[in-house]
Amino acid sequence: MSSTKPRPILVMKFGGTSVANVERIRNVAQHVKREVDAGYDVAVVVSAMSGKTNELVAWVKDAAPLYDAREYDAVVASGEQVTTGLLAICLQEIGLNARSWQGWQVPYETDDAHGSARIASIGGEGILKGFAERREVAVVAGFQGIHTPTGRITTLGRGGSDTSAVALAAGLKAERCDIYTDVDGVYTTDPRIVPKAHRLDKVAFEEMLEMASLGAKVLQVRSVELAMVHNVRTFVRSSFDNPAQPMPGTLICAEEEIMEQPVVTGIAYSKDEAQITLREVADKPGVAASVFAPLAEANIVVDMIVQNVSADGKTTDITFTVPSSDYARAVAVIEKNKDELGYTLLQSAQDVAKISAIGIGMRSHAGVAAKAFKALADRGINIRAITTSEIKFSVLIDVAYTELAVRTLHSLYGLDAA
Ligand code: ASP
Ligand code: MG
Repeated sequence: MSSTKPRPILVMKFGGTSVANVERIRNVAQHVKREVDAGYDVAVVVSAMSGKTNELVAWVKDAAPLYDAREYDAVVASGEQVTTGLLAICLQEIGLNARSWQGWQVPYETDDAHGSARIASIGGEGILKGFAERREVAVVAGFQGIHTPTGRITTLGRGGSDTSAVALAAGLKAERCDIYTDVDGVYTTDPRIVPKAHRLDKVAFEEMLEMASLGAKVLQVRSVELAMVHNVRTFVRSSFDNPAQPMPGTLICAEEEIMEQPVVTGIAYSKDEAQITLREVADKPGVAASVFAPLAEANIVVDMIVQNVSADGKTTDITFTVPSSDYARAVAVIEKNKDELGYTLLQSAQDVAKISAIGIGMRSHAGVAAKAFKALADRGINIRAITTSEIKFSVLIDVAYTELAVRTLHSLYGLDAA
């Protein structure tokens, strides 16, 4: 009868705005049908309807400020259960075989870090059987998993359905993973700030990792890490396109796949930063450790760190940044250890922003950052701190200059669309 050659597998992921109501879910079904008709076996990963997870989280917090994290997961995982069932029904309505799969049914095995669980392994045998025997589209709940030893439902952290999708693509050995969202790809910077920003055809995993962690909120950072480790070719594309005429979106892929590499690929910014400076800390071995170890223990991620060379050989200043949401906790941790650290003054600023330029081309070009410092100075923008790595540099500035700084760097590196 039919040939025995297995069909290629495609994972498609649709975020909250793409499944916001039944009409939008019908539109998603048309995108899925197009790919089934093109000859793929399709697994679709869905988020909850937009706003749903926020509502569920608020209910939990209303029920008890210090809630049981296992029950938080039981509640917030429910949003995805609804959309899997609805999409399966809409697919059946247009003549496709389809069924829903909850995280525990796939299964996505995770650890027991409720609220931010990590995936340990993925099953997927049932999904593959459905492909082979019934050409059945698998509609999979993103964001959720199961901790098998306790038998409890877990969730992967906010935005986690991107990670669910990439993990499934790796687990099923899919040809690629298409992440459908409300933007048509990854841009050189935020188009709301720079109208001349343009969509990138391709971005290297490493660059996307930097962009995602620096505030370009297209993809959850963990999903990019996973795509890089398993070399999953991942497209970011729009679900608002006409399903009959889809646009290509942006491919996130291995660096070798990108022929023409510009020096700078994108400019990212984050206003979610706070700066802390400790004045006159003793300049002796072990001081940096005693500042940063307690912060790490409190699970506070420190980003930029600047330490001066001491002028008198006795004391020095240390400046670092933390996420705004951790600012109060960070100050409390430092103050608790004041005796040991022996600083004379703690100064801080919350009205700061971090602007970063990213590009793997920086590896082979000198003076990329120096150019930026000059351009920012010419516009009267003061730089509070700088960090650099192989493929990016970041500057900390006053938040009021964010837009100007982003625009300046965007044109400086030739990213403005013609
Ligand atoms: N629904 C979850 C959230 O809003 C997971 C996701 O959409 O990625 O965070
Ligand atoms: Mg998302």
